[in-house]
Amino acid sequence: MSLIVQKYGGTSVANIDRIKNVAQRVLKTQRAGNQVVVVVSAMSGETNRLLGLANHACEMPNERELDVIASTGEQVTTALLSMCIHQLGGEAISLQGHQVKILTDNAFSKARILSIDAEILKKYLSQGQVVVVAGFQGVDSEGHITTLGRGGSDTTGVALAAALKADSCEIYTDVDGVYTTDPNICERAQKIEKVSYEEMLEMASVGAKVLQIRSVEFGAKYNVPIHVRSSFNENPGTLVCQEDSTMESVVVTAIAYDKNEVKIAVRQVPDKPGVAMKVFSPIALANINVDMIVQNVSEKGATDLTFTVPKADFKKALQIVNAVAKDIGAEKVESYENIAKVSIIGVGMRSHAGVAAKTFEVLAKEGINIQMISTSEIKISLVIEDKYTELAVRTLHTAFGLDKK
Ligand code: ASP
Ligand code: MG
Repeated sequence: MSLIVQKYGGTSVANIDRIKNVAQRVLKTQRAGNQVVVVVSAMSGETNRLLGLANHACEMPNERELDVIASTGEQVTTALLSMCIHQLGGEAISLQGHQVKILTDNAFSKARILSIDAEILKKYLSQGQVVVVAGFQGVDSEGHITTLGRGGSDTTGVALAAALKADSCEIYTDVDGVYTTDPNICERAQKIEKVSYEEMLEMASVGAKVLQIRSVEFGAKYNVPIHVRSSFNENPGTLVCQEDSTMESVVVTAIAYDKNEVKIAVRQVPDKPGVAMKVFSPIALANINVDMIVQNVSEKGATDLTFTVPKADFKKALQIVNAVAKDIGAEKVESYENIAKVSIIGVGMRSHAGVAAKTFEVLAKEGINIQMISTSEIKISLVIEDKYTELAVRTLHTAFGLDKK
């Protein structure tokens, strides 16, 4: 008998008919002789609706209360799915994050999982029940409800698979798998059969929304192969797993983009030790993830410091940076909201030269200006003006031979 964790995203549980479809798939898996743990998201649009209510009630909602509201979306889905399974003659029980004991830290709205008590799940599984767990939510050591960040149900799914040492972890969504780029903006995008954790991490970190980044980190850390598939058909999907020798022969695996960041520039920062610390420490303390950072060559003892942060943290970050800029004697703070980050990703870059040069050549030909550049061993990221995103993605996709034949 195998133990299978299946996670169903918001579009797969968008209405009662779709939840019934999920109930059927789950029971089919169980009746084939498996134990099944199901993780569910909120019905699509529900988390946005809930957060919208909060933002109507209050300009800067309290973070603890926000999580109390946001976590309710998943709770509704767990009970509805259990009921649909009952209706089909199956046995199922719904459990919330605190009931499973998904223990997290206390960083509301982006909490990290610290431990999971798998015993209660095993108890119900051994009774022949399908266990339906609410994704996205946990509980901190003081009993406060926490949530794991947008898309966090993926992480619940992979973390449960790791804790249970499941035989397989399936993430069901509304697309057939992971694509070479977003098929919504490039119709020549292709499904990738197999992708390494490392590439997937880079893709998730630059806006490929199929998997939450932390779910991939969990998968890599505990070696849980993640099978991304559609809940609307039986197609095989994409396997996210450890790198193998065949992967390196492909130079570029995917082109991703992210329109969810903003750029902040601190002008004429005194160029002396400790200044970067003064800018970035309070940002880190506020739990804001800084992504790209560029510091110019200093001229006359001063330099410009430019970096990007998530749009959602923009107000908070700007407040902090404005205060620090005064404190350290910088000239001024500027911000730019109309930017996009385009990234070229592939483990093959380690062994193939010329990817950066080719990227710059392609963009130059299209007359697209590059505002910031950053690289890792397997990724090149560029900040450009957001109105050129689609053009940049499509031309790079073609240039690196990723187009569907
Ligand atoms: N419902 C949450 C969200 O919309 C978590 C998830 O679906 O994974 O972000
Ligand atoms: Mg998702």
